[in-house]
Amino acid sequence: MAKPNKKGPSKTVEIFCAGCRTKLFKYRKGGKGALIKCFKERIVSDFTTDACQCPNCQVIFAREALVRGTPAYKMIGGKVTMK
Ligand SMILES: [Zn+2]
Repeated sequence: MAKPNKKGPSKTVEIFCAGCRTKLFKYRKGGKGALIKCFKERIVSDFTTDACQCPNCQVIFAREALVRGTPAYKMIGGKVTMK
C-alpha cells in the first residue's frame, strides 16, 4: 500500500513557461497547491525539445532530480505557471 498508485492522479493540468506562455507539459498532478515537482512518469505530453528548457525562450525552468528513487523534474520557482 505504500507504493505509489500506478494509475496516479486523474486530474490533468497544463504547465506553461511563465516568461512566454509556451506550453511545456501536460501533467497528471496529485494533490492541491503549487507545482513543486513533476514525476516524469506522470507527464502525459511533453512539448519541450530539451529537458527542463523552454523550447521558445530557452529559459531553464526545472532541474532533473530523483524523488524517492523516481525520476522527476524539480520546478524552479516562478519559471512555470499552471492551469
Ligand atoms: Zn518560455
